[in-house]
Formats: sequence, structure tokens, C-alpha cells
Amino acid sequence: MAAAWFTLGLPWPVCAFHQITGLPCITCGMTRCSVQFFHGHFLAAVKWNPLVFAALCGVMAFDLYAFGALVMRAPRLRIAFQQREKKYARGIVVSALALNWIYLLMHWRNF
Ligand SMILES: [Zn+2]
Repeated sequence: MAAAWFTLGLPWPVCAFHQITGLPCITCGMTRCSVQFFHGHFLAAVKWNPLVFAALCGVMAFDLYAFGALVMRAPRLRIAFQQREKKYARGIVVSALALNWIYLLMHWRNF
């Protein structure tokens, strides 16, 4: 959908938070990161938004796994979190979001 959007020459999405504050929001750089990622410019993609880059790598890894599991008719991998593990997972996600935003704020001049 994004590829079709840019192929049609439609305008880049505008961030309301950035428009108001002049600072990047937690998802700023997502579009530019994705464009760089899909052009194979991985270092540039990391610089735009490290968390989005990690998410794109995760999606690619999952897609490869899913394709392999389908082709080989292998049993699906199941991960069941216990309550304690869910608590740590939430902490990791919140920390990753916070660290990513700190990184973006440190590089606010790029936006
Ligand atoms: Zn933004």
C-alpha cells in the first residue's frame, strides 16, 4: 500500500506531534526507515528509526519462518508466556519504546 502511495506521487505523511513541538514523536522516521530498508540500505534504515528497523527485521524473520513451515509442512512453533514472563516482556517493550524515543530526540535535527 505504501509503495502504491509513493508510486502515485501522493504527499509524504506529516507528523502532527512534530508539527506542533518541532520534536520527533516515537514513530517519526518510520516511513523513511521502511523506504531505506526495502531498498537494502540497512545502515540508513537503522539511523532513521532503530525500533522500526528491528520490527522490520522481525517481520522478515517471521515471514521466512512461516514460508519454511508452510513449504515443509513443519509443526508451528508455539510460545506460551507465563504471567511472570508477560510482566518482563511488557517491561522490555516499554523500555525499547523509551530508548528509541530518546535516540530520536537526540537526533531531532534530522527530522
Ligand atoms: Zn512523528
